[in-house]
Amino acid sequence: MHGPGDLRVEEVDEPAGEVLVTIHAATTCATDLKALRHGHVMLGPYPSRFGHETAGVREDTGERVLVGDSVACGACVQCADGRRQLCEAMTWVVGGFAERIAAPPAALHVVPAGLDCDGAAMAEPLAAAVHAVARAQPRAGVDAAVLGGGTMGLMLARLLVLEGCEVTLADRHPERRAQAIAFGARAAEQLGRHELVLEAVGRPAAWRAAIAAAAPGATVVLVGGCPAGCAVSLPAAPLHYAELDVRGAFHHQPAEVDRALELLAIGAVDWRALAGDRIGLDELAEALVRPSAGEARKLIVDPRM
Ligand SMILES: [Zn+2]
Ligand SMILES: [Zn+2]
Repeated sequence: MHGPGDLRVEEVDEPAGEVLVTIHAATTCATDLKALRHGHVMLGPYPSRFGHETAGVREDTGERVLVGDSVACGACVQCADGRRQLCEAMTWVVGGFAERIAAPPAALHVVPAGLDCDGAAMAEPLAAAVHAVARAQPRAGVDAAVLGGGTMGLMLARLLVLEGCEVTLADRHPERRAQAIAFGARAAEQLGRHELVLEAVGRPAAWRAAIAAAAPGATVVLVGGCPAGCAVSLPAAPLHYAELDVRGAFHHQPAEVDRALELLAIGAVDWRALAGDRIGLDELAEALVRPSAGEARKLIVDPRM
């Protein structure tokens, strides 16, 4: 990536790093589109390697691995307090949209037997969903809502169903509502009022809608990140008089990545229901910006194509 909106396929030097991984699958997500349009904290100086949901084969051992997109320093205050997702000196590992990636061993997670690399790559976003659900602290039987039926919203809905919640996912696209129902949730065009609300859109209006859908005393988890520099105004009354518990959720920890791999491997989260077209690197720049029709699905980039 040479800058916002400028993505090219080029021959570059071999990536430098401790372990080389031949990439078999790198999935796309809304973060990639946001990063392509506006830049992103995880991208280095331009030109930057790009792509952060990556699975492939270690060149040294032949093991199949998910290449985690970050390694926490282990030494800062946040790391010492067990919040590695908030590490103040994070090393980002990006470059999934390439034939090879170099990664520190600490970024690598062994892919369980029986899980394709296509599915394993989705363990990165699923780990973020696992983390967000941990932030939500759902109780079984709670009336939970997810706002937004993109792939992240669908993953959140599925995890809440697995937690035993009564889940409603709201999205204006009927195709995405059907996907939510297939994941065991109910679906609606708009939310009512709920005891637990997870926002998975990443726009100021959606943050406000999540607050509006929160019953008194509810917990609201903001999972979708608004673009950097964005300011959001929220109504004061429910935050105070309804004692809303509003929390952010960002990124994940290594154990959450392993949990996500396990959930995918045992079929608890059906990654095929979220998998879209399989494309080569040359098609990526155009495919990323193509308006998505209907269902929420992730492109699978296979650089060997
Ligand atoms: Zn992603
Ligand atoms: Zn740290």
